[in-house]
Amino acid sequence: MEKLIFEKSVKGRKAYSLPSLNYEEFSSDKLLPSNLRRASELNLPELSEVEVVRHFVKLSKLNYCIEDNVYPLGSCTMKYNPKVNEKVASFDGFTALHPHLDEDACQGALQLMYELGESLKKITGFSGVTLQPASGSQGELTGLLLFRAYHQDRGDTKRTKILIPDSAHGTNPASSVIAGFQVVTIKSDPDGRVNVDELRKYCDDTTAGFMLTNPNTVGLFEKHILEISEIIHNCGGLMYLDGANLNALLGIVYPADMGFDCMHINLHKTFSTPHGGGGPGSGPVCVNDKLAPYLPVPQITFDGKKYSFNYNLPKTIGKVHSFFGNFLVFVRAYSYILMNGTEGLKQISKASIINANYLLSKLKEVYFQPFKEYCMHEFLITGDNQKKFGVTTKDIAKRILDFGFYAPTIYFPLIVHEAMLVEPTETESKERLDEYASVMLQIAKEAESNPEILLTAPHNTPVRRVDDARAARLINVNYFKGEAKE
Ligand SMILES: *Cc1c(COP(=O)(O)O)cnc(C)c1O
Repeated sequence: MEKLIFEKSVKGRKAYSLPSLNYEEFSSDKLLPSNLRRASELNLPELSEVEVVRHFVKLSKLNYCIEDNVYPLGSCTMKYNPKVNEKVASFDGFTALHPHLDEDACQGALQLMYELGESLKKITGFSGVTLQPASGSQGELTGLLLFRAYHQDRGDTKRTKILIPDSAHGTNPASSVIAGFQVVTIKSDPDGRVNVDELRKYCDDTTAGFMLTNPNTVGLFEKHILEISEIIHNCGGLMYLDGANLNALLGIVYPADMGFDCMHINLHKTFSTPHGGGGPGSGPVCVNDKLAPYLPVPQITFDGKKYSFNYNLPKTIGKVHSFFGNFLVFVRAYSYILMNGTEGLKQISKASIINANYLLSKLKEVYFQPFKEYCMHEFLITGDNQKKFGVTTKDIAKRILDFGFYAPTIYFPLIVHEAMLVEPTETESKERLDEYASVMLQIAKEAESNPEILLTAPHNTPVRRVDDARAARLINVNYFKGEAKE
């Protein structure tokens, strides 16, 4: 393993040179009383500049990233994020803004947030927006709190249930419970879509709403969406779209037209913020007129001359984030939307769908495809055909790493066994997709001829196969010299 920077330290080595100080003067009690001064030296690693640089470059190489190679993690949209958006987000005018500035002193930032909100409304077809939520899951929670406020405001207090398909992302039931609802699971059809009869059966005057991902988590468009919306609305419920993955819809479908009342968008998936390292993200929520009165404050308004904060929403659910949300993620999304324009955004969605179908057409030759249809921006295959050789999806995924590629999302969604959810995204070229396909096909051959190589993979990564149960149960991120203690 790579040594810690502290272990590489050699006393006296330096990566800087500064003029010498008059130490006496600085250590006098006049400047800082002795009880506030350190008694011993700060324990910092001492290295030359080149050793510091080597250390961090080495660490960066242990990681896998989109700048290395294809990252087809279904549902996560690990597309390449243009560097120009990073550049824009690093401008001092954005990074040095103080959140307590008066409106007059930050008109540019307000304009950016206002216009980003307007763009998201245009993209989704909705009339109201809040940029505050810091993630997709917090967007869900916000949307569900809006549902609750809406029903309560109408005196409709019996509505305690949220219906959710069994293919949903795990955050959907979690957000529902945190928002105070009970979850009712709706079974999927054998074709991978919501079972409409089942939905009808569970929809009644206790239904607060239905949460749906569309395209759903098996990569298919819910083609009965208008019927589904009608069923839910007829029984007094509201429609929530989990729009974490907007990559298939840009400029092609307006979620509001499908009958949804509310949705969140993961800016860190579709709109160019690198993610996967724990944040920061951003999950703006868009709503129609029914829910707009309950949106978080402040709302940002524009009277044709000046941008202002509007706190005057008597029915608001309040704030869901300090200040305005994760502002620099807004900057990236704004920049990305302007760079691409309406036509460019549509092109993104078209290309992501074409790329997914191209890769699917190659992989379905050897991997099992549970739902035999064209896909949207991602597709589901499984390791079922390889099971007879004694290997699982996990072994296939580990083996992919040996070829310098990242694995797809595995074992999600839960409605099929041995799932692999593959999302190549629009930023991959045909050549890269061909390479990925040939690796996956080779692994299928290996499963037959030499399953051992899959069972013991990965062989070429900095860390070999970890015991993931132990790693999850006995997590210990503290450093101990020698053996890690449990
Ligand atoms: C990523 C994702 C979420 C959760 O988003 P976070 O920002 O990670 O909280 C919810 N639903 C779907 C379908 C997703 O892909």
